[in-house]
Amino acid sequence: MDKPYRCILCKTPTEPFGHDFVNSEPCCPKCKLSGVNILPLVYIHLYFPDVDGPILGTAGVCYRVACKPKARNPRGVPCSTQAITVTCPECQKTRDYQEAKVSQEDAQNELVLS
Ligand SMILES: [Zn+2]
Ligand SMILES: [Zn+2]
Repeated sequence: MDKPYRCILCKTPTEPFGHDFVNSEPCCPKCKLSGVNILPLVYIHLYFPDVDGPILGTAGVCYRVACKPKARNPRGVPCSTQAITVTCPECQKTRDYQEAKVSQEDAQNELVLS
């Protein structure tokens, strides 16, 4: 079965943490290397704040899973509110992800500037 991996050697401006790929072997399709530079990835989904979201988070904030907006019980499914840590390709295609990414990048830039 194909699994998600990340090659930390193949960094590019669009993939600053390394090249993510799905393969049956932990072998990078770009540099053709395998070994300690290949990290197995777990798909992490995006929790997006949504007042009508089906998942009740802390402090009364509700969320939805970006790629499965109707999912009520994401237990056992790793999720994050930080777009940068999201590895689920379906979540990454959503508008929620784009929004979260842009707003979180802005927040980070402000942090650096201040
Ligand atoms: Zn590589
Ligand atoms: Zn997802």
